[in-house]
Amino acid sequence: MDDAGNVGGAAPFRGTLAGVTAQVLVVGSANADLVVAADRRPAGGETVLGGDTEILPGGKGANTAVAAARLGADVALLGAVGDDAHGSLLLDSLRKSGVRTDLVRVVPRPTGLAFITVTPDGENSILVSPGANRALRPEDVTSALPGAEVMVVSMEIPLATVEHAVNTAAAAGTRTILNLSPVASVPEPTLAVVDLLLVNQHEAAWLLGGSEDTAVRTSELPGLLDLGPRGAVVTSGARGAVVVEADGLTEVPSPSVDVVDTTGAGDAFAGALATALSGGAALTDAVEQAVRVAAFSVTRRGAQPSYPTVAELR
Ligand code: ADP
Repeated sequence: MDDAGNVGGAAPFRGTLAGVTAQVLVVGSANADLVVAADRRPAGGETVLGGDTEILPGGKGANTAVAAARLGADVALLGAVGDDAHGSLLLDSLRKSGVRTDLVRVVPRPTGLAFITVTPDGENSILVSPGANRALRPEDVTSALPGAEVMVVSMEIPLATVEHAVNTAAAAGTRTILNLSPVASVPEPTLAVVDLLLVNQHEAAWLLGGSEDTAVRTSELPGLLDLGPRGAVVTSGARGAVVVEADGLTEVPSPSVDVVDTTGAGDAFAGALATALSGGAALTDAVEQAVRVAAFSVTRRGAQPSYPTVAELR
């Protein structure tokens, strides 16, 4: 890392060190992650004793917003939590990271929860109870957009809200990143107005007609543009990411790091990408920054706690 906090000595992180105020709006979920380590996951009808439960702030939307805020972006989360202890935990974590929470509604439903079982092989199995995230309505989006340079929308919220957010942003001239995770079918007219589709390789495989376990070849990735978006970014774990544009593919390798925990790496990537783009970076430069930030995040435990500030990148 160089003195400016850039992993691998790349150009300054646009939108932060360059002194540009970023305007990022994240539309997505906020969940409390209830994490239990167990020797194995229970089969149907079986009870297994696990370790103590850790309660951590999570959810794709909240993670993405925290990642962007840590990098210095001016970021707001549009989301919903319940009026309960988990909701307070999430709001606290967002505020401490510098995320604006005036667009997070507190609703009379339980805060979204992710029940995560971690086994000794490092594998997670996750059951999400969306709770308050299901109360995020299309009409919540409208007042949020003015001023946003870039909007990141992820799933785990009602599809109608995702569609409305994308269409409203497109009409307002806000650059739209659709992080189609967990992957789901989105109507073609909505995908057609997305600026950038962001998926991992499993989600890309599914979108290209395979299952999430199908190996997808890099040469197949231009097929993602046939679904409608202007461009796409496909993350591929330790290998980095691939930028897919109408005039070709660019592979952006990852620095090699000592991996501790990959939880939330994709959300770190999304937050860093949005921050860099909102600061005026070109797409490939923004992806290079996002790859470096996501690689940093996998060297520490957890999702939000693993995301670097600019000072930590130094
Ligand atoms: P997701 O977390 O959504 O499954 P990926 O596994 O593709 O997505 O990871 C997202 C990004 O996180 C990658 O593009 C890369 O920058 C970083 N990353 C993930 N795993 C590793 C790893 N083992 N080493 C370095 N970087 C990683």
